[in-house]
Amino acid sequence: MLVFKTAHHLRSRFKSNLQTIGLVPTMGALHKGHLSLVKKACEENDKVVVSIYVNPTQFNEVSDLKKYPSNLEKDLKLLQSFSNQVVLYTPDHKDLYPDGIQSKTYDFGTIAAHMEGEYRVGHFEGVATVVEALFRKIQPQKAYFGEKDFQQLQIIKALNAQKKLGVTIVPCPIVREKDGLAMSSRNRLLTQSQRQAAAQIYTVLDELKKRKLGKEVHAMKDFFIKELSREKELKVEYFFVASTNDLVPVTTIQEGFIYRIFTAVFAGKTRLIDTVELGRI
Ligand code: AMP
Repeated sequence: MLVFKTAHHLRSRFKSNLQTIGLVPTMGALHKGHLSLVKKACEENDKVVVSIYVNPTQFNEVSDLKKYPSNLEKDLKLLQSFSNQVVLYTPDHKDLYPDGIQSKTYDFGTIAAHMEGEYRVGHFEGVATVVEALFRKIQPQKAYFGEKDFQQLQIIKALNAQKKLGVTIVPCPIVREKDGLAMSSRNRLLTQSQRQAAAQIYTVLDELKKRKLGKEVHAMKDFFIKELSREKELKVEYFFVASTNDLVPVTTIQEGFIYRIFTAVFAGKTRLIDTVELGRI
């Protein structure tokens, strides 16, 4: 498999306008969630660029950045199971931040104001900065993002439209472990008992979807917090229900809209996020 350290080398290798390029941006420590994006990209493009770059500007806490898992050797092995249609881009900071590691300023309005935008201040500026740099340097026709980070996906769509980057954004469904836990690189940081407890996050979200708890969000939130408090290693940071249009949290569910639950839960010191669609009522 070809591995490129600079976007310049990568682009000079794939100059031909006859080849379509699909981009899968990741921070490495790859798992089946990432691989589902790579698989879809392979089906829809001539070449697939997987980028592995732990982007410092999207971490609001240095300790979180420092302990972020990485295993390039294993990532390489996983990607080699695809054909040579897949190439890897592992830039150093200079390639993506030639003028210094700093976020740019954006205005994404309400979609960035709540949930991750509120609890991880500056996170989406960091994400948008690195994704804009990746889009401009790699110039893919399509780029693949997981619905696990649903709010991020909406931010990328807005970025793409605002900056007229001309990339088709392809959303990909959440891949879960057998017990329902959303796959995440951070799951590697969990102890065995935290890992077991973390399965409750999806179990309770799924129950909330099925149970008729009325239209009041506070009742859903109380239920979620009460159920998760049975696991002493879990602590709910936030629980919101928001319309998928504007991502503004609501207190009451109204007919005719599609809503999602968004939650962040600490398992010990590891922060996990999840989301499920509530659908139209
Ligand atoms: P990350 O390496 O965590 O930044 O993720 C890279 C991409 O993979 C993002 O678009 C994520 O939304 C996506 N992704 C991560 N975990 C999953 C999952 N369990 N299912 C689907 N997509 C995922």
